[in-house]
Amino acid sequence: MTGPSDEWVLFAVLRAEARALGRGLPPGTPLHRTGTGTARAADAASRHRSTSALAVAGIAGGLSAALRPGDLVVASEVRRDNAPWDTLPCPTAPMIAASLRRRGLTVHIGPVVTAARLPDAATRLRLACTGALAVDTESAALLADARGRPVACVRVIADLPPRPRLHPFALGRLATALRALPPAAPALVEWAAATTVRQVQLAEPRSFCAGVERAIAMVQRALDQHGPPVYVRRRIVHNAHVVAALGRRGAVFVDDLDEIPDGAPTVFSAHGVPPAVRATAARRGLPVIDATCPLVTKAHSAARRVAGRGDTVLLIGHAGHEETEGTLGEAPERITLVQSAQDAERVEVADPARVSYLVQTTLAMDEVSDVLEVLRRRFPGLTGPSTDDTCYAATNRQAALRAVAARSDVVLVLGSGRSANSRRLVEIALRGGTPAYLVEDVDAVDLRWLAGARAVGVTAGSAAPPRLVDETMAALAGLGPLAPGNRITTDDAGVTRGTETRAR
Ligand code: SF4
Repeated sequence: MTGPSDEWVLFAVLRAEARALGRGLPPGTPLHRTGTGTARAADAASRHRSTSALAVAGIAGGLSAALRPGDLVVASEVRRDNAPWDTLPCPTAPMIAASLRRRGLTVHIGPVVTAARLPDAATRLRLACTGALAVDTESAALLADARGRPVACVRVIADLPPRPRLHPFALGRLATALRALPPAAPALVEWAAATTVRQVQLAEPRSFCAGVERAIAMVQRALDQHGPPVYVRRRIVHNAHVVAALGRRGAVFVDDLDEIPDGAPTVFSAHGVPPAVRATAARRGLPVIDATCPLVTKAHSAARRVAGRGDTVLLIGHAGHEETEGTLGEAPERITLVQSAQDAERVEVADPARVSYLVQTTLAMDEVSDVLEVLRRRFPGLTGPSTDDTCYAATNRQAALRAVAARSDVVLVLGSGRSANSRRLVEIALRGGTPAYLVEDVDAVDLRWLAGARAVGVTAGSAAPPRLVDETMAALAGLGPLAPGNRITTDDAGVTRGTETRAR
């Protein structure tokens, strides 16, 4: 769609705006100064009916008390004041906003409304009540014919009610606004470079696993039954959006039980707890709701079983992860954490003939193969867990992502940095030679990663809500038509296959 810069256009209305933008644009950027008013805007738009992507940038009037002169508003949609039902969505707004924020600019995302003429104070008040953040007099007309093509609208706030734009005292604010345009302009160049027709390879399964859904539902039920606050030991799952949403409902996340008042409902997270924590909760009489994933509970039972028969247990996992802390606590005198092949070379055991190993549930067996190779060499009688004890959710997500990455130019993994299984997904793509990025949500997607990427792989860690994938897909679709792609599926037996998805 774009690539060469002459395949898109950046509209600016005033000469001063075009000059300011030009100072931040590389030579040859197609900048079209339109002149003021809807008639000139419509005329300019008519000259770009075959241009692949359309952007508008310039100054606007602010409608919200949260705005300051010089702040940028990236339109989530562009509306007409005289036809508010006729809105043009701008789904790439979060990615443009992220690019602007990287440049140190103050950015807001929200609707921009186009009025037929410079609005008076009463009109601004009325428009503010609609939820719009900024008002101009051209954007809707410039983008009116854009449907189906990528669009972007970035406005810098020049004035705020009650002082109108042409008030003499507003000249200082106008200068402040114009100063924000040169540093903002490169973000629109990044946006244009990322627009294209592309395929999206969507991994399946992705996002919430059964253990995470169960844990979240248990906190929600506890809130329904007991009312807030409900205390959760540690993060219920490793995702900032989930934690924030439950926090808004009244869940309180604590590191230790001593932060929980006597008698308060207490939830154990999906990652499980060491027996000592259960004992403390019982001693204090805390009403406990145990949201430990059944697969983690199974791993704890396996640890008790093999430790109980006298084996030294080598737990392959990561230090500091709640799950490994919980499993280690089952038999601290018999279980040793092994994090790497180097650890495996060094670990000492009481009886080399009686050694078992366990694996942190969110690690795939092929990720720990180097560690296992060392352990098998050193302890030929090494016994391991049955395949029933590994987490099918993590394994299947990893297998699907491996196939997706092989067909993609770049991979986006939705998930939190704290989520071990999300980090694993990134590592798998990188090991296969595909650039991959872990992003908390679409706001963290860097447009530069998408420049030239004709096939983008998308997946999400098992603690990431499906909505994050939907928002990312919507933003990718806003960068240009999505060609029919593949949904890479791994069923519970670990078989990977591709199925067609519909074009968006
Ligand atoms: S990733 Fe596996 S072990 Fe972790 S909560 Fe989900 S199902 Fe349970």
